[in-house]
Amino acid sequence: MSWFDLKGENNILFTKLNDFVNWSRQGSPWAMGFGLACCAIEMMATGASHYDLDRFGTFFRASPRQSDVMIVAGTVTLKMAPVLRRLYEQMAEPKYVISMGSCANAGGPYWQYGYHVLKGVDQIVPVDVYVPGCPPRPEALIEGLLQLKEKIKKEGTLK
Ligand code: SF4
Repeated sequence: MSWFDLKGENNILFTKLNDFVNWSRQGSPWAMGFGLACCAIEMMATGASHYDLDRFGTFFRASPRQSDVMIVAGTVTLKMAPVLRRLYEQMAEPKYVISMGSCANAGGPYWQYGYHVLKGVDQIVPVDVYVPGCPPRPEALIEGLLQLKEKIKKEGTLK
């Protein structure tokens, strides 16, 4: 059985409340772009007309209070890390994080000698999806977003 059943001539929809809430949430995860370095260029390209992230229901917002998912795109320096954490805390629940690129995932080219770089944004915020690459192409970020949608669909929102 799929997550919903259509019955009868009157198009009555049967589903679980949990599935319905998750379905509506995954439909339009608005994103707060956190562009920090070169990966941000690919993130911007993903949002531009050729790749058109809008068609997946994702619009970039300039405020954490209007955002569902933070896309961390680039090198997280130790100076920027507390700012990133504060903006994450200003997002309303439920909130998600996509770590985009090797720098955000694990420090990237700075993993060994980058004395000023955080070796993975998951040290300060919980990450839902990691997108590999240096930088990842827009297709990879879109795949990461689709993976996040699948994750949201399986959440136990209401218990
Ligand atoms: S992962 Fe590569 S492309 Fe992305 S911010 Fe780091 S150095 Fe730049």
